Amino acid sequence: MLQRQKGVWRIKDNSSVWKDLLRLKAPAKALNLVWRALANCLPIMTQLQTKHVPVQVWCPVCNEEPETIPHNLVTCTFASQCWMVLRSDNLWVQNMEFRSWMSAILSSGTDKQRAESVMLCWVVWRARNDLVWNKKFSTVNKVVASAKKNLTQWILAQSISSHTLLQPHAKGDGSMFWVKPQPNTVKVSVDAAIFEDRE
Ligand SMILES: [Zn+2]
Repeated sequence: MLQRQKGVWRIKDNSSVWKDLLRLKAPAKALNLVWRALANCLPIMTQLQTKHVPVQVWCPVCNEEPETIPHNLVTCTFASQCWMVLRSDNLWVQNMEFRSWMSAILSSGTDKQRAESVMLCWVVWRARNDLVWNKKFSTVNKVVASAKKNLTQWILAQSISSHTLLQPHAKGDGSMFWVKPQPNTVKVSVDAAIFEDRE
């Protein structure tokens, strides 16, 4: 892993990247995407070609380089501009491994920055698919804003969900606690979220 200490990048073991990812408070869809990227399991063009799917290998976004996972999520012109806006503290170094880069992303910055970074991977991947399958173009600002908005909405939904498990204590000190359901009733706790995925 590359870790910046006093302005100098140092190489460290990146085997903790999986644990760092699982510890992150972020939507499952984003964690899942990054997990698949780390496991080299995203259906990008070069990957499909190794499975003998007849596709051209060039990146469908920039059409300048073969589409690999790090190219798609980090170094493609479009993706790198998004990272410049969101995490200029962690830029790609040439010939770096994707896992090393993600390890640096997940072990620096604030919790929020780390969660936003995972979310940005998911939104960049979605923008790529929108272009491939729907011929729909997006902009850097829209994609970065969408990553932040998705995360904010998810955090809000998590907060609402956990508060519905508590009942206000009217007589005491204003603290909250869980109330045992009345006999012959069924208490259902629903964990749900609505995301405005589209702009
Ligand atoms: Zn590209």
